[in-house]
This record gives sequence, structure tokens and C-alpha cells, in this order.
Amino acid sequence: MLPEDNYRHKGLRKKLVEGIKEKGISDARVLKALETVPRHLFLDNAFLEFAYQDKAFPIGAGQTISQPYTVAFQTELLQLKKGEKVLEIGTGSGYQTSVLMEMGAKVYSIERQKELFDKTKRLLQQLNYTSAKLFYGDGYKGIPTFAPFDKVLVTAGAPFIPEALLEQLKIGGILVIPLGEGEVQIMTSVIKKGPSDFQTDEFGEFRFVPLLEEKAWKKT
Ligand code: SAH
Repeated sequence: MLPEDNYRHKGLRKKLVEGIKEKGISDARVLKALETVPRHLFLDNAFLEFAYQDKAFPIGAGQTISQPYTVAFQTELLQLKKGEKVLEIGTGSGYQTSVLMEMGAKVYSIERQKELFDKTKRLLQQLNYTSAKLFYGDGYKGIPTFAPFDKVLVTAGAPFIPEALLEQLKIGGILVIPLGEGEVQIMTSVIKKGPSDFQTDEFGEFRFVPLLEEKAWKKT
């Protein structure tokens, strides 16, 4: 059966996006992408009522689909231009990946949970979001073969900025990462000014599941 995206879904999405705009997101391209991507199809069946609330939600394997506002906030910080190469760490449900694709980015995304990697790969094909390159691996290492990237987006709470990700960022590129080991992280953007010259800015508190090292070999 083809996944359904009907007028009710579209209406709910419009409302969600209005709310996100009121919370301070102003980049029209980000808002348009959120209005386009059918978030309800990234949750397991029967969770429609949760899909268009501005909340994170469990997606299996102990992980969550990020809150729409958080997705919008991180995407806005990336200052994305069409055609840019983006490395995403933490594919999860594939929702953020799809938002980036809607904005015309060439997305490379890594997920360390095999179960989620397999599930999301199937889903994105089904939804016709086929341009992203998905990798099963450890995001701390990035993807050296496809570096450098214009932008890097980390969608899990990291205890520190992985060196490999800074190396794989182009000069002039931006890395967005929630930093902090506890329950709460500080949203941080890092602009690479030169090979070892970085400008760091902080954007307040957010909550993410942790960025864990190595691939997961069993369910965590
Ligand atoms: N962008 C996702 C958010 C998922 S939550 C979405 O829109 O749904 C963060 C994801 O990061 C989880 O799926 C988790 O398994 C993954 N993750 C955690 N540590 C990782 C690592 N070292 N490498 C790659 N993915 C990781």
C-alpha cells in the first residue's frame, strides 16, 4: 500500500509550521521543507496524533525522531544553499535527512543502529527520497571517502566535537552540534575559518539522545 498523505495531514502540518514560525524560525526555505515532508510517515503506524505535535517521539531501538522545532532550528543554523554537500550524523527515522533533501542538499547520513539503518533505508526509498547516501557506521569518524562537506549536522548529544568531523568540513563550512554529556546539551555552531581556525557560537539548551561511539552490535 502506498503511504497516504491527505488533506488532513497537510492541514495539521501547516498548523505545526505556523507554531514553529511563532517560536522564532524565520528561514522561509526551512519552513517550506517542514511543510512538505510528511512527518507522520516517519513514525510507526497509528501515531498520527503525535506526528504533528511539536514533540520528539520514540522510533524504536531506544531512539527518537527529533522535535520539529529542533529540526528547524538546526537546519536554519546550517544556512544551507541548494546543491551543498551535507554530512548528517544520526539518520534515525530519516526525517531530518528528508528535510535536508527537500532543501536541495546532497545528503550523506550515518546511523550506528543497524535496525534503524535498515528500516529507514526502506522507508526513504518508499517515499521517493532516494538521493541521500545512507551509511551504517560510527558517526564519530565521519565519511572520509566523501569529504570535504559544506555542512555537518550532528543530531545526537555529543560529549565533545569529534576531530574527524572538523577535518572533513570545508573551509567556510558550518558544523552544527548539540554539546553536552548530561540530559541537556548546548546547541553549538562552528564555522571553519581556516584549517585550524574555528569560530564557535552557542544557541541555548536542547535535549537529545546521546551520540555513542562505535556501531551498535546489539540493541541498546
Ligand atoms: N535525525 C534523526 C534524529 C535521530 S536521534 C531524525 O530526524 O529522526 C539520533 C540518532 O543518532 C539515533 O538514531 C542514534 O542511533 C544515532 N546515533 C547515536 N550515536 C551515533 C553515532 N556515533 N554514529 C551514528 N549515529 C549515531
